[in-house]
Amino acid sequence: MPELPEVEITARLIGRAVAGARVESALAPGINALRSYDPPLSALEGRQIAGVSRRGKLFLVELDNGLTVLIHLMSAGRLQLFQTRASLRDRSSRLLLRLDDGHELRLREFGTRQRAWAKLLGGGAVEQEETLADLGPEAWPDPPPLHDLLDQPRPLYALLRDQHVLAGIGRSWVDEILHAARLSPFKRGSDLEADEAERLRTATISRLDEAISHYEREIELPIPDKLPMPLTVHRRNGEPCPRCGDRLEAVFYEDYVMCYCPTCQTDGKLLKDRRLSRLLK
Ligand SMILES: [Zn+2]
Repeated sequence: MPELPEVEITARLIGRAVAGARVESALAPGINALRSYDPPLSALEGRQIAGVSRRGKLFLVELDNGLTVLIHLMSAGRLQLFQTRASLRDRSSRLLLRLDDGHELRLREFGTRQRAWAKLLGGGAVEQEETLADLGPEAWPDPPPLHDLLDQPRPLYALLRDQHVLAGIGRSWVDEILHAARLSPFKRGSDLEADEAERLRTATISRLDEAISHYEREIELPIPDKLPMPLTVHRRNGEPCPRCGDRLEAVFYEDYVMCYCPTCQTDGKLLKDRRLSRLLK
């Protein structure tokens, strides 16, 4: 599941490689992937790529004439840059931009569900795009103080993943951040003490920083199908806690899992699955 660090490294690597290249042709083989009609995809032809950037978990591919391709990977998408031309029979491809330098930028999606999407936005439309306008401040590199931002009677596990509150964190990195901050996923944002809020902010910055540095060392183009996420808590239930050595525990949901260390985060308390599922809804 690509979150802020995975989208950040992808935007950096692809942005460095394609800046200045021109789009020869644009295709959307994923029939549901393109969620805009005007301007048409053909408006990209002949345009030069000015850069690739990130906002929250979204990509913005900016063109020289003010056009922007906004891309959301959802849970199983990847943005990849290949040297070879894709066969249209590649069923994972949702959007293809063929470039005049021989590269091909592809939005691909793995699994059966088609949820990844792209929108082509004309000049000025980026500011009005709801998906972007609704995002909270960036979780990295310099989030605002969290004491006021998280002052809501909802659990940290939900608040930190709410893109309207703070943009970029999902189910993988929230486990890592809460563990690093030694805070219970259950704790309500409005119950955070000032020093806890500061600890959480520091942990957020440092865990995301470490992840991006790791990817800078490990990841190359075309961007692998499976990213080597440097997770030490998420999906490590049953393994020793990297800080205290006690056993990491998990709460299982229908299609994901939340991991934590009882000793470091919940005063030794084990969180019950059902109770937690209800509380976090
Ligand atoms: Zn621990």
